[in-house]
Amino acid sequence: MIPDLPANIDQIKGFLAADEAQALYEQALQASVTGPVLEIGSYCGKSTIYLGLACKRNNSTVFALDHHRGSEEHQQGEFFHDPELYDDGEGIMDSFREFRRNIHQAGLDDTVVPVVAGSEVAARHWQTPLAMVFIDGGHSLDAALSDYRCWMPHLMRGGILAIHDLFADAHAGGQAPYAVYRMAQASGLFENLEQVSSLGLLRRL
Ligand code: MG
Repeated sequence: MIPDLPANIDQIKGFLAADEAQALYEQALQASVTGPVLEIGSYCGKSTIYLGLACKRNNSTVFALDHHRGSEEHQQGEFFHDPELYDDGEGIMDSFREFRRNIHQAGLDDTVVPVVAGSEVAARHWQTPLAMVFIDGGHSLDAALSDYRCWMPHLMRGGILAIHDLFADAHAGGQAPYAVYRMAQASGLFENLEQVSSLGLLRRL
Protein backbone atom coordinates (compact mmCIF):
# COMPACT_ATOMS: atom_id res chain seq x y z
CA MET A 1 0.00 0.00 0.00
CA ILE A 2 1.55 3.26 -1.15
CA PRO A 3 0.06 6.48 0.33
CA ASP A 4 -1.15 9.14 -2.16
CA LEU A 5 -0.80 6.88 -5.21
CA PRO A 6 -2.95 8.50 -7.94
CA ALA A 7 -6.19 6.62 -8.66
CA ASN A 8 -5.32 6.60 -12.38
CA ILE A 9 -1.82 5.16 -11.96
CA ASP A 10 -2.66 2.09 -14.06
CA GLN A 11 -3.87 4.30 -16.92
CA ILE A 12 -0.57 6.14 -17.12
CA LYS A 13 1.41 5.00 -20.13
CA GLY A 14 4.49 3.02 -19.23
CA PHE A 15 6.09 -0.34 -18.77
CA LEU A 16 6.39 -1.14 -15.08
CA ALA A 17 4.93 -4.17 -13.30
CA ALA A 18 3.22 -3.74 -9.92
CA ASP A 19 5.89 -5.66 -7.98
CA GLU A 20 8.65 -3.62 -9.65
CA ALA A 21 6.85 -0.39 -8.80
CA GLN A 22 6.53 -1.44 -5.17
CA ALA A 23 10.24 -2.36 -4.98
CA LEU A 24 11.28 0.95 -6.56
CA TYR A 25 9.16 2.84 -4.06
CA GLU A 26 10.59 0.97 -1.07
CA GLN A 27 14.20 1.41 -2.20
CA ALA A 28 13.64 5.12 -2.89
CA LEU A 29 11.96 5.58 0.49
CA GLN A 30 15.12 4.35 2.22
CA ALA A 31 17.67 5.89 -0.13
CA SER A 32 16.17 9.37 -0.34
CA VAL A 33 16.82 9.96 3.35
CA THR A 34 20.48 10.51 2.40
CA GLY A 35 20.17 12.33 -0.94
CA PRO A 36 18.33 12.79 -4.23
CA VAL A 37 17.28 10.10 -6.70
CA LEU A 38 18.07 10.18 -10.43
CA GLU A 39 15.87 8.42 -12.93
CA ILE A 40 17.18 7.91 -16.46
CA GLY A 41 14.29 7.44 -18.89
CA SER A 42 11.08 8.90 -17.45
CA TYR A 43 8.80 8.60 -20.51
CA CYS A 44 5.30 9.57 -19.25
CA GLY A 45 6.25 9.56 -15.58
CA LYS A 46 4.83 6.31 -14.27
CA SER A 47 7.98 5.18 -12.45
CA THR A 48 8.77 8.83 -11.64
CA ILE A 49 5.55 8.96 -9.61
CA TYR A 50 6.57 5.96 -7.48
CA LEU A 51 10.04 7.43 -6.91
CA GLY A 52 8.52 10.87 -6.32
CA LEU A 53 6.02 9.72 -3.70
CA ALA A 54 8.88 8.10 -1.78
CA CYS A 55 11.11 11.19 -2.06
CA LYS A 56 8.29 13.52 -1.06
CA ARG A 57 7.98 11.75 2.27
CA ASN A 58 11.63 12.59 2.98
CA ASN A 59 11.58 16.09 1.49
CA SER A 60 13.99 14.82 -1.12
CA THR A 61 14.10 15.23 -4.91
CA VAL A 62 13.83 13.10 -8.03
CA PHE A 63 15.81 14.31 -11.03
CA ALA A 64 13.83 12.89 -13.94
CA LEU A 65 16.14 12.73 -16.93
CA ASP A 66 14.69 12.19 -20.39
CA HIS A 67 15.08 13.98 -23.74
CA HIS A 68 11.42 13.03 -24.28
CA ARG A 69 12.07 12.25 -27.93
CA GLY A 70 11.53 8.53 -27.34
CA SER A 71 13.97 5.65 -27.52
CA GLU A 72 14.60 3.67 -30.70
CA GLU A 73 11.55 1.49 -30.11
CA HIS A 74 9.21 4.48 -29.71
CA GLN A 75 9.88 6.01 -33.11
CA GLN A 76 7.33 5.99 -35.94
CA GLY A 77 6.99 2.54 -37.43
CA GLU A 78 8.57 0.82 -34.40
CA PHE A 79 6.84 -1.65 -32.10
CA PHE A 80 6.31 0.65 -29.10
CA HIS A 81 5.36 3.75 -31.09
CA ASP A 82 2.39 5.62 -29.58
CA PRO A 83 0.72 8.08 -32.01
CA GLU A 84 -0.67 10.07 -29.03
CA LEU A 85 2.90 11.00 -28.11
CA TYR A 86 3.80 12.13 -31.60
CA ASP A 87 3.90 15.87 -32.28
CA ASP A 88 2.57 16.08 -35.84
CA GLY A 89 3.39 19.77 -36.13
CA GLU A 90 7.04 19.26 -35.31
CA GLY A 91 7.19 15.77 -36.80
CA ILE A 92 8.87 14.34 -33.70
CA MET A 93 8.11 12.29 -30.58
CA ASP A 94 7.33 14.37 -27.51
CA SER A 95 6.46 12.70 -24.21
CA PHE A 96 7.25 15.77 -22.09
CA ARG A 97 3.75 17.27 -22.22
CA GLU A 98 2.21 14.01 -21.04
CA PHE A 99 4.96 13.65 -18.40
CA ARG A 100 4.28 17.12 -16.96
CA ARG A 101 0.55 16.49 -16.83
CA ASN A 102 1.02 13.24 -14.92
CA ILE A 103 3.53 14.68 -12.44
CA HIS A 104 1.29 17.70 -11.81
CA GLN A 105 -1.80 15.57 -11.28
CA ALA A 106 0.14 13.38 -8.85
CA GLY A 107 0.98 16.49 -6.78
CA LEU A 108 4.71 16.07 -7.35
CA ASP A 109 5.67 19.41 -8.95
CA ASP A 110 7.70 20.30 -5.85
CA THR A 111 9.48 16.94 -5.72
CA VAL A 112 10.30 16.10 -9.33
CA VAL A 113 12.84 18.14 -11.27
CA PRO A 114 12.61 17.31 -14.98
CA VAL A 115 15.94 17.31 -16.77
CA VAL A 116 15.03 17.44 -20.45
CA ALA A 117 18.26 16.43 -22.11
CA GLY A 118 20.26 13.46 -23.26
CA SER A 119 22.10 11.47 -20.63
CA GLU A 120 25.64 12.41 -21.68
CA VAL A 121 24.83 16.12 -21.94
CA ALA A 122 23.21 16.15 -18.52
CA ALA A 123 26.14 14.27 -16.97
CA ARG A 124 28.80 16.59 -18.40
CA HIS A 125 28.83 19.07 -15.52
CA TRP A 126 26.94 17.06 -12.94
CA GLN A 127 28.34 17.29 -9.41
CA THR A 128 25.53 16.29 -7.07
CA PRO A 129 26.01 12.96 -5.26
CA LEU A 130 23.04 10.63 -5.78
CA ALA A 131 21.47 8.27 -3.28
CA MET A 132 19.81 6.17 -5.98
CA VAL A 133 20.18 5.82 -9.75
CA PHE A 134 17.46 4.10 -11.75
CA ILE A 135 18.58 3.16 -15.27
CA ASP A 136 15.63 2.78 -17.64
CA GLY A 137 16.75 4.79 -20.66
CA GLY A 138 17.69 3.67 -24.15
CA HIS A 139 17.97 -0.08 -24.49
CA SER A 140 20.67 -0.23 -27.13
CA LEU A 141 23.99 -1.47 -25.76
CA ASP A 142 25.59 1.91 -26.46
CA ALA A 143 22.88 3.81 -24.59
CA ALA A 144 22.72 1.46 -21.60
CA LEU A 145 26.52 1.34 -21.22
CA SER A 146 26.76 5.10 -21.53
CA ASP A 147 24.12 5.60 -18.83
CA TYR A 148 26.05 3.32 -16.49
CA ARG A 149 29.40 5.00 -17.20
CA CYS A 150 28.01 8.54 -16.97
CA TRP A 151 26.11 8.14 -13.71
CA MET A 152 27.66 5.34 -11.69
CA PRO A 153 30.50 7.65 -10.52
CA HIS A 154 27.89 9.96 -8.95
CA LEU A 155 26.28 7.24 -6.88
CA MET A 156 27.10 7.60 -3.18
CA ARG A 157 28.60 4.78 -1.18
CA GLY A 158 25.66 2.81 0.14
CA GLY A 159 23.51 4.16 -2.71
CA ILE A 160 21.16 2.04 -4.78
CA LEU A 161 21.63 1.15 -8.45
CA ALA A 162 18.38 -0.07 -10.03
CA ILE A 163 18.25 -1.36 -13.61
CA HIS A 164 15.02 -2.07 -15.45
CA ASP A 165 14.22 -4.60 -18.18
CA LEU A 166 16.52 -7.46 -17.25
CA PHE A 167 15.90 -10.48 -19.40
CA ALA A 168 18.33 -13.37 -19.09
CA ASP A 169 16.60 -15.02 -22.06
CA ALA A 170 17.06 -13.10 -25.32
CA HIS A 171 13.62 -14.28 -26.48
CA ALA A 172 12.00 -12.37 -23.60
CA GLY A 173 13.60 -9.00 -24.43
CA GLY A 174 16.69 -6.97 -25.35
CA GLN A 175 19.96 -7.86 -23.68
CA ALA A 176 21.59 -4.47 -23.09
CA PRO A 177 20.22 -3.76 -19.60
CA TYR A 178 21.10 -7.30 -18.54
CA ALA A 179 24.65 -6.88 -19.88
CA VAL A 180 25.05 -3.70 -17.81
CA TYR A 181 23.62 -5.45 -14.74
CA ARG A 182 26.12 -8.31 -15.13
CA MET A 183 28.93 -5.80 -15.63
CA ALA A 184 27.99 -3.99 -12.42
CA GLN A 185 27.84 -7.30 -10.55
CA ALA A 186 31.26 -8.30 -11.88
CA SER A 187 32.84 -4.92 -11.04
CA GLY A 188 33.18 -5.67 -7.33
CA LEU A 189 31.72 -2.22 -6.63
CA PHE A 190 28.28 -3.45 -5.64
CA GLU A 191 26.51 -5.72 -3.23
CA ASN A 192 23.76 -7.72 -4.89
CA LEU A 193 20.37 -7.04 -3.30
CA GLU A 194 17.63 -8.75 -5.28
CA GLN A 195 15.88 -9.01 -8.60
CA VAL A 196 12.13 -8.30 -8.65
CA SER A 197 10.68 -9.44 -11.98
CA SER A 198 12.81 -7.52 -14.52
CA LEU A 199 14.13 -4.98 -11.97
CA GLY A 200 17.67 -5.53 -10.65
CA LEU A 201 18.76 -3.90 -7.38
CA LEU A 202 22.35 -3.41 -6.24
CA ARG A 203 23.93 -1.41 -3.43
CA ARG A 204 27.18 0.48 -3.96
CA LEU A 205 29.86 -0.60 -1.50
MG1 MG B 1 11.79 -0.02 -18.70
